[in-house]
Amino acid sequence: MIAPIERTLTGLRAQTAVWRKAGESIGVVPTMGALHQGHLSLARAARETCDRVIVTIFVNPKQFNNPDDLKNYPRTEHDDAAKLESTGVDLIYVPDADQIYPDGFATTVTVSGLTDMLCGAKRPGHFEGVATVVPKLFLQTSADKAFFGEKDYQQLQIVRRLAKDLDIPIEVVGCPTIREEDGLAMSSRNLLLSDRSRIFAPILAEVMTDLRAQLRDGAAMTEVGAEARARILAAGFNEIDYLELRDGTDLGLLDKTQPGARLFAAAWLAGVRLIDNIAA
Ligand code: AMP
Repeated sequence: MIAPIERTLTGLRAQTAVWRKAGESIGVVPTMGALHQGHLSLARAARETCDRVIVTIFVNPKQFNNPDDLKNYPRTEHDDAAKLESTGVDLIYVPDADQIYPDGFATTVTVSGLTDMLCGAKRPGHFEGVATVVPKLFLQTSADKAFFGEKDYQQLQIVRRLAKDLDIPIEVVGCPTIREEDGLAMSSRNLLLSDRSRIFAPILAEVMTDLRAQLRDGAAMTEVGAEARARILAAGFNEIDYLELRDGTDLGLLDKTQPGARLFAAAWLAGVRLIDNIAA
């Protein structure tokens, strides 16, 4: 059965009140739609540990620093609802924009430190948009657990931080990145790749995996990073926003790998920005 779609906060709260009264736990999976197996894996993880599961679909204008990116972002609500059928979610919350940002909305949440580097340095305002909408979705759904992908690792760490700092009583659960067979991390943005770009896209993950092997053999980023960057560009990527080794918790920059380290990359392929990260 396709889960019901709710578009208003009042309707959402009427439903969650019934579940709460019955003593049922609630899991939430925040998404921007254009769902793929990565999103569905989060819904399944929620299904395993929560009595009720809400998937939210909201293309949050505040986290787009580029108006064209917002305009071009894929919107596939009908297909999304059909894809979610197999996961057994209970409700799809697709709030109208005024249910999130009513007239007069004037609050912005800023998480300092963790937002300064990586995507935060390249996409001004992006993480403020994320950090503003996520607590709203937590509070609107009153969820006990929230499921986020490691695919957006920096986002996951920021969400953990803000939930802790704001005393929001929710457990933030990180879930592994789901990949295509050729290694490309699944992403809604992959839909925007041309057939030709799609052929080159997996090279980003391939270079990262090779680089990880070198780091684990004792090499330093200052020794092997430039060659890896050159390989990404030679494969047809136009620009690299970053290819960096960082600590997986505080995201501090590293030169050599250590327990908990991760490799992070963001690069442009024919106008599409792809990001990825792996444990190093
Ligand atoms: P998005 O719709 O891109 O905002 O993503 C919604 C959630 O799905 C976020 O928590 C993402 O980290 C997660 N996600 C996106 N792609 C993947 C993937 N390939 N594997 C696992 N989770 C993912």
